[in-house]
Amino acid sequence: MKKRVTLTFPKRSVQMPVTYRLAKDFNVAANIIRAQVAPNQVGKLVVELSGDIDQLDAAIDWMRSQDIHVSFASREITIDEDICVDCGLCTGVCPTEALTLDPETFRLSFTRSRCIVCEQCIPICPVQAISTTF
Ligand code: SF4
Ligand code: SF4
Repeated sequence: MKKRVTLTFPKRSVQMPVTYRLAKDFNVAANIIRAQVAPNQVGKLVVELSGDIDQLDAAIDWMRSQDIHVSFASREITIDEDICVDCGLCTGVCPTEALTLDPETFRLSFTRSRCIVCEQCIPICPVQAISTTF
């Protein structure tokens, strides 16, 4: 079976070869959908785990024992283009450059594949154009 999860790593675990351990110790394959893992920072991975149900549960228990936060809610950022005024404020807080201003049109550009759903952009938006959906 497959489970899509978001993994949040504490600083000390960012360098841990998690996908290797999942494959070797639990026979669980981890297909990385999105990653933001930098040395000495909190890291996030959105992964699709595939394997036997019991081994999937054991793998998730093991990750939690390593202080890796495992979340099953897969949230997405949504930008309401009808509300956005392209002020660019959100681009200044986005750590992954998922939000940028197009240099030619000065319109906001959102690259979903770069977004780690850190939600830092939500409170900065003066017109509440940014929200999360499940
Ligand atoms: S949630 Fe917002 S600030 Fe965070 S990575 Fe995604 S677009 Fe950037
Ligand atoms: S902060 Fe809000 S209004 Fe400004 S560019 Fe970002 S989404 Fe648009």
